[in-house]
Amino acid sequence: MSTQGLLIVLSGPSGAGKGTVCKALLKECPQIQYSISATTREPRVGEVHGKNYFFTKVEDFEEKIASKNFLEWAKVYDNYYGTPRDFVIENLKNGRDVILEIDVNGAKQVMENFPEGTFIFLLPPSLEELSNRIYKRGTDSKDVIKKRLASAEGEIEEMKNYNYAVLNDKVENAVEKIKAIIVAEKCKVNKI
Ligand code: 5GP
Repeated sequence: MSTQGLLIVLSGPSGAGKGTVCKALLKECPQIQYSISATTREPRVGEVHGKNYFFTKVEDFEEKIASKNFLEWAKVYDNYYGTPRDFVIENLKNGRDVILEIDVNGAKQVMENFPEGTFIFLLPPSLEELSNRIYKRGTDSKDVIKKRLASAEGEIEEMKNYNYAVLNDKVENAVEKIKAIIVAEKCKVNKI
């Protein structure tokens, strides 16, 4: 039996509630290691460097892309986001489960490089609900919100490439399902 940790990728359209579900999951399962992403976007109120994100200058981010520092990276609504590679690899090697909360383009890259990962697609109950969630968050400009909604429809197409789809009707339900998926993955005999 492998002692390598599980690489869990939680993805889905913006506004599906990935951040909220991931936070609630980690509260219940503190043994799972959260992968802190680097981003070039400005911090939102209350966000802390090194906890929520590594807030990075565009030049530094591009340098890190060139030196292959990222396991995956993507431009999401005009900002760069990326997963620092070494941190993830080290933790997996040490037997720790690692969770990545990333957009669908990033998840696609991880699928290519890490097909043994567990890919979970989080679905908002409906596009209407998705739009409400994005508006309720109230931190983005109208322009950004429009872009997010337009791309969400396309992103849902990606679901077929994932191992699991979880409907985020209620955060507690989604967390329960993800916990069950993790248990199932650990009991799996044929990993691929
Ligand atoms: P936000 O700016 O709202 O925190 O995140 C915007 C989007 O970027 C979300 O869909 C989030 O999942 C995604 N994201 C966050 N970190 C990463 C990352 O490291 N890589 C990729 N590809 N997407 C990320």
